[in-house]
Amino acid sequence: MLRSLILAAAGNETVKRAVAGAPISREVVSRFVAGEGMDDAVRAARELSEQGLSASLDHLGEHTTDLAQAIAATETYIGLLERLAAEHLTPAAEVSIKLSAIGQGVDEDFAVERAREVCAAAERAGTTVTLDMEDHTTTDSTLRILEDLRTDHPSVGAVLQSYLRRTEADCEALTGLGSRVRLCKGAYAEPDEVAYQDKHDVDLSYVRCLNALMAGKGRPMIATHDPRLIAIAAERAARYGRVPDSWEYQMLYGTRPTEQQRLIELGHTVRVYVPFGQEWYGYLMRRLAERPANVSFFLRAVATKG
Ligand SMILES: Cc1cc2nc3c(=O)[nH]c(=O)nc-3n(C[C@H](O)[C@H](O)[C@H](O)COP(=O)(O)OP(=O)(O)OC[C@H]3O[C@@H](n4cnc5c(N)ncnc54)[C@H](O)[C@@H]3O)c2cc1C
Repeated sequence: MLRSLILAAAGNETVKRAVAGAPISREVVSRFVAGEGMDDAVRAARELSEQGLSASLDHLGEHTTDLAQAIAATETYIGLLERLAAEHLTPAAEVSIKLSAIGQGVDEDFAVERAREVCAAAERAGTTVTLDMEDHTTTDSTLRILEDLRTDHPSVGAVLQSYLRRTEADCEALTGLGSRVRLCKGAYAEPDEVAYQDKHDVDLSYVRCLNALMAGKGRPMIATHDPRLIAIAAERAARYGRVPDSWEYQMLYGTRPTEQQRLIELGHTVRVYVPFGQEWYGYLMRRLAERPANVSFFLRAVATKG
């Protein structure tokens, strides 16, 4: 209920202006976002690397309708990849990209060309790109673009969301050699026709998908903060005889850092998803929607300022 309310508010322009303009928002944002500029992203990647953690850097922005903005986002990624390589932060740091930020909603072919430029820059930098997954209306297009990009850049990774009823089949289709798949629960408000509504069903689907990926030949990237799923992932990896660096855990910046460290100490690879940039509103709303504790953190911060 709270989740749907917040996700509905996320699409409301008036709410967006009020939240984005409130001075307190920046303070709250800094818990989940590395900062607004490229320097902040590079600093976060360096700090994580010093702690033995890998990173996936995400330049915030989505649903671009302006192609000039899509080109600017592409250039930011290319510049970032050059910086990461120059500072020897690759391959531990890679990038995550939302296709809607580089024009997917306007012209799919245009977005593919921009994505190709980012993939080529990542290759030059000695690292990889993962295509974030957005709402279900973009899933087919995103998987089509993934297939296209993987012809020249086989290391491009996908994201699959266990709340979608279709995802088990999508996982089966992406278990080939070298296929990098980030498995998450899914962060958007989706209708019953396409997505499980009950949390338990989403978790059961997650485990079925996890089994398929662990049994396959690709690289499962287990993106969750859920203690039960974290434990199941390790147990399945052992069952399928996986060596430690053939799969990884992923968590969000600012979320469960102690758990990230614990997993590292057990010998696992842990990658932290690090968002940066000025367009933090949609991202923040999804984080608030998935965890009531995040909402109370937000409200507490507002109350202390008041
Ligand atoms: C690296 C990464 C990349 C992602 N990329 C995408 C993407 O491309 N597309 C997309 O739709 N979604 C993406 N997501 C978001 C994802 O879909 C979920 O919305 C988000 O991860 C919350 O789900 P959860 O699995 O962590 O568990 P939840 O169902 O939110 O929580 C389950 C349990 O985990 C524990 N937990 C969760 N959060 C915390 C916390 N902050 N502190 C302590 N315990 C906690 C609690 O015990 C909780 O009951 C990504 C998530 C990660 C980690």
